[in-house]
Amino acid sequence: MTTIFDSHESKVRSYCRAFPAVFKNAVGAELFDESGRRYIDFFAGAGTLNYGHNNPLIKRRILDYIQQDGIIHGLDLHTTAKRAFLETFENIILRPRHLNYKIQFPGPTGTNAVEAAMKLARKVTGRNGIVAFTNGYHGMTAGALAATGNTYHRQVSGSLLNGVTFAPYDGYFGPDVDTIQYLRKLIEDDSSGLDKPAAVLLETVQGEGGVNVASFKWLQQIESLCREHDILLIVDDIQAGCGRTGTFFSFKPAGITPDIVTLSKSIGAYGLPMSLVLMKPELDCWEPGEHNGTFRGNNLAFVAATEAIRIYWTDNTLSLAIQHKAHLLRRRLRKLCDEFPAHGLTVRGRGLFVGMAFEQFPQLARQVSAEAFQRGVILETCGARDQVIKFLPPLIIEETMLDEGLEVISDSLRTVMQQANNNPAGGLPDSIAQEVHP
Ligand code: PMP
Repeated sequence: MTTIFDSHESKVRSYCRAFPAVFKNAVGAELFDESGRRYIDFFAGAGTLNYGHNNPLIKRRILDYIQQDGIIHGLDLHTTAKRAFLETFENIILRPRHLNYKIQFPGPTGTNAVEAAMKLARKVTGRNGIVAFTNGYHGMTAGALAATGNTYHRQVSGSLLNGVTFAPYDGYFGPDVDTIQYLRKLIEDDSSGLDKPAAVLLETVQGEGGVNVASFKWLQQIESLCREHDILLIVDDIQAGCGRTGTFFSFKPAGITPDIVTLSKSIGAYGLPMSLVLMKPELDCWEPGEHNGTFRGNNLAFVAATEAIRIYWTDNTLSLAIQHKAHLLRRRLRKLCDEFPAHGLTVRGRGLFVGMAFEQFPQLARQVSAEAFQRGVILETCGARDQVIKFLPPLIIEETMLDEGLEVISDSLRTVMQQANNNPAGGLPDSIAQEVHP
């Protein structure tokens, strides 16, 4: 029964429209609705549940902490939970990766971390402009929204979205156009109209924008460009970070070191709200309370995050497992694409951050997602036209469940293709409809 939601919850609600069940329980990569129906989760709270729902190892620590009346809300007071998190993050995540960052706890949402990062870059450099990229997504509050490409979201800002210039992301004009050259020219030409920016802000893999993957070379060139011109590089690792692409930080395999990094989503480890801004120490020019907020000390999230880092990041077991499962996932999806050669379906991504793109028939992506939901798999769409189905299972998903989910998705795709074939008016030109199922 969804009546109370329909009548009382604002129309702004969104995901529940695509997945109209009333969920009650969840463990690992499975969700259960109130009637006990099971769903396999290939969405993972948009990348928030990398360690799965109600991970029992993390839950144990949380329950212990609550049992001991540990501090839950602490503004930004010193607490033992925060100390343990800072020490663990330094010892297990930063130091072994030769990263030297100070840590800011902004408000607990991703968008708040991006706001803080943009403010800091402007404060440090004394410049106003930020360069962001086509199809980028950085959040819904005014500053971050200014750096988000999507018109649907931008048009309701209610105020001018200032201070951001968009440049084409890697591959925006196809594989043959070097988008770095364009940005370099804009920055180096005194008459381009682009004032020297404070920072360049990017996702290494664009999540909401359609699982667009920047090449390591492109990322390296962006870093060089920033260094040459004394521009700060901000990597928004809110969706791609915390292991999603196979390593804790998505930028590390590219060999780049951003000046500022934003993290959120799975850093809270148990679906608990938390976000971080990492900054090179010399950039920490904040005055006390300049970026304040009531919920900057979610101590339960510190406890969960500390435990998850200790369990999953002290060695490379999880990283290897991600790479292995990513390989299985990609192989399966490529084979599936091969069943429909006329549709030009493509698979792209890094690690367990994978998209299947329906560029020529965008409407089919939503149909596959809807069909998969009917059959018990939760799978989101993304991209400017919702033309990409996004595979974002919890990183800890068992291989058998990954397999089972993929089986359901394969059947869903075949059904959607069959329906399109039977009803060419529903989307497919005749010539292609013939080819769907010979
Ligand atoms: N940056 C990126 C890369 C994201 O994917 C998101 C959320 N999808 C955000 C920022 C905003 O995070 P939040 O929704 O927690 O504000």
